Amino acid sequence: MRRFTVVFCMALACSLPAVAHGEARAFACEPEWAALLEELGGNQVAVYQATSPKQDPHRVEARPSLIARMRRADLVVCSGSDLEIGWLPVLLQAAGNREVQPGQPGYFMASDYVRRLDVPDRVDRAMGDVHPYGNPHVHLDPRNLAIIATALSKRLAEIDRENADFYVARNATFQERWSASIERWEREATGLKGLRLVTYHRDAIYLANWLGMDLAATIEAKPGIPPSSRHLAKLLSQLEAEPADVIVRMAYNEPKAPAWLGEKTGIPVVELPYTVGGTKQAKDLFGLFDDTIDRLKSAVSRS
Ligand SMILES: [Zn+2]
Repeated sequence: MRRFTVVFCMALACSLPAVAHGEARAFACEPEWAALLEELGGNQVAVYQATSPKQDPHRVEARPSLIARMRRADLVVCSGSDLEIGWLPVLLQAAGNREVQPGQPGYFMASDYVRRLDVPDRVDRAMGDVHPYGNPHVHLDPRNLAIIATALSKRLAEIDRENADFYVARNATFQERWSASIERWEREATGLKGLRLVTYHRDAIYLANWLGMDLAATIEAKPGIPPSSRHLAKLLSQLEAEPADVIVRMAYNEPKAPAWLGEKTGIPVVELPYTVGGTKQAKDLFGLFDDTIDRLKSAVSRS
């Protein structure tokens, strides 16, 4: 009898879509994935955004409210590549939701779908809080977002089969608008080629790689380690010998060290949104790149 029950339940589970009625519930680790889910999911997906644009996505507290959201999620969408190593595994374990564990359709790590930069030859704790699977900040190249959008729309279709056609159609519309925008952004940003950036963290590497800019130096001494005054002094003399064009402060970076460095070197400091909501203008994914390029261009024209 017991055996019969198990088989019956399994067969029933197989015949049911993962999302039985109503909206699919998605848990987005960062604002960029919440924004992409909204583009693709429209009113069929209820999106919960776990972090704010001013929050450092490397360092998030695994609060009970996040655990409760993850427990109810049909799909978890994060950057992956260990960006969330300090909090996502804790949430996954505490929530105990089998549908969203690694390897399940409900677990989607965006960076798995694109070519990662900064993959280290070796990983050594002495190198700091390094990302061993390469740089996880993949969303700042819009060409990556196009690839991820297609993969994510397929995943939504798998999880919520009733609305599969809807997600495919939403992605087609998004891709059309997105590729036209990429062309426009590339045209608008031609003057940024060769620009030498100082960033707090190497989170602008995909942006730099896309637009042909250079990451000349980072304000943090090692990934995840705030700069000491000794490191800042060294950076200052390095920039005096080999100047950079712009100091970038992302919305989630602390402002003091970039401001100090800007004052000492005379290099303009530009605040970039980093993600959706990071500035007032970065209202959605389109606004994120519009505003990023606008701000870089106006910093360069001022200097
Ligand atoms: Zn990082």
